[in-house]
Amino acid sequence: MMRPVVVLNASYEPLTTVSLNRAVLFLVKERAVVVEAVEGATIRSVDREIPLPKVVRLVKYVNVAYMHRPRAWSRRGVLERDAALGCIYCGSKKDPTVEHIQPISRGGDPRGWTNTAVACGPCNNSKGNMSLREWGRPLRYKPRIVTERDTLVLAIAKAGVDPVTYGLA
Ligand SMILES: [Zn+2]
Repeated sequence: MMRPVVVLNASYEPLTTVSLNRAVLFLVKERAVVVEAVEGATIRSVDREIPLPKVVRLVKYVNVAYMHRPRAWSRRGVLERDAALGCIYCGSKKDPTVEHIQPISRGGDPRGWTNTAVACGPCNNSKGNMSLREWGRPLRYKPRIVTERDTLVLAIAKAGVDPVTYGLA
């Protein structure tokens, strides 16, 4: 399986991941340069031999304001965001469900990052339509807004590159 290649901005800030083919195209067109390569491995492209890239850097700077914009809310996004934290009420990592902290029937935002969190099935069932106050249990963590940057951190880790090396996570 070919791993995706991490693309850094001209400023070395991580931007995205692309397929190996796409990364090679950037290199051949001299739109990017290799920053990290797989040791001892090269690939032939057109008329030359280039190191097999793991991380490339764009030659020209691109604007990254979009990275700090919130992502569209999704159940999957909540489950991913809170997977490592577990149930917001008891910490259990079993049977994760998406919980609305302020119930929708009581005016809670149905698709708000900060009104949703992972709760285990038993906690979600017991809380039912109660407000947090009526339920009487504190939140173990504060649900945060997910931005494009979070997606990037996951993608970079999947590409086999340490996000910490490039100032993420
Ligand atoms: Zn629970």
